[in-house]
Amino acid sequence: MQISILDLRPQFNSLKDEILKEIAEVCESQRFILGPKVENFEAMMNDYCHTAATVGVTSGSDALIISLMAEGIGPGDEVIAPTFTFFATAGAIARVGATPVFADIDPVTFNLDPADFERKITPKTKAVIPVHLFGQCADMGKIMDIAKSHNLIVIEDACQSIGAEYNGQRAGSIGDYGAFSFFPTKNLGGFGDGGAVTTNSEERGKHLKRLRNHGQGSTYIHEEVGGNFRLDALQAAILAIKLPHLDSWTEARQHNAEEYRKLFSASKIADRVILPGLANYPVRHIYNQFCIRIVGADRDKVKAQMAELGVGCMVYYPLPLHLQACFKNLGGKVGDMPVAETVAKDILALPIYPESTTEMRQYIVECFEKVLSGC
Ligand SMILES: *Cc1c(COP(=O)(O)O)cnc(C)c1O
Repeated sequence: MQISILDLRPQFNSLKDEILKEIAEVCESQRFILGPKVENFEAMMNDYCHTAATVGVTSGSDALIISLMAEGIGPGDEVIAPTFTFFATAGAIARVGATPVFADIDPVTFNLDPADFERKITPKTKAVIPVHLFGQCADMGKIMDIAKSHNLIVIEDACQSIGAEYNGQRAGSIGDYGAFSFFPTKNLGGFGDGGAVTTNSEERGKHLKRLRNHGQGSTYIHEEVGGNFRLDALQAAILAIKLPHLDSWTEARQHNAEEYRKLFSASKIADRVILPGLANYPVRHIYNQFCIRIVGADRDKVKAQMAELGVGCMVYYPLPLHLQACFKNLGGKVGDMPVAETVAKDILALPIYPESTTEMRQYIVECFEKVLSGC
């Protein structure tokens, strides 16, 4: 059996006629930049994320950048982020000229450790970017309390967590800003790059809309320097077709995760893998990834042997950000973030996409039995 970590074709095939019709409509209209398709999708996002305003932008990375820009965060300012996340979380901080300050993660959820976040606060700290990694919300109750008591802006990196919930609240509706990505591998994926910022402040929404269009108030009158951060009408049109299906795809992912849990627990190698941990606060986990941890074997060897058996697994993420060469100037060193450094060595993501089958999961767990028994 050949199983890749993600196969996007079944989803496309199930919506093909509708999507091609919608693309044709945008082509006929010749309205490619912003306009009614983008506005329609933004309104749908407000409903889905329980927010007052959504601003469609070019990517999840730009959603983070434009949120930082909106708060005037730049040189001399510090922004705290977890060291274990996709690079863009910290890249955005550096791109606006501010200094990323890294904090360690919780070993169960892989999300920002609130206690370490609090320890990293200095008089220069302006904001924090908690990441809802792999589809599960960070400990937002504690993070919001700490942020409020230090007057910090909270930008939720919800790029992997559209529709996830913390204590009944949707990702992107809890902090001051929520950053979303529609990169094709996210749970709601476009046909190219795309992103959005959500906020519960109409005021902030207006400001973001101006910033994404070169800070333009009225045509060719610029009140501040923004950029070109506009979401394409074509992407918005495709995303608007997909969004009504997102909950059923999420349910399929949750079902697949439960099946993995049962299969691994009943297997001969139940003690050789740590299954994805659930938070000790109420969450809706949307399983953008299903990441296990390998016990007592070399993760990279296990991954290579699984590939030989036809199973595509991935490592998110092999090197914490405080150890990346591009952040050498910040002085991070091995041993600074023990939890993230350990997890980076043993974590492994398995196929979890909605259309993956029970047969595939049975085969995958059998392969782990073979591989781990030999290690
Ligand atoms: C995907 C992702 C981003 C960036 O999104 P792009 O649309 O690829 O720019 C940022 N943060 C996290 C956690 C992500 O997973």
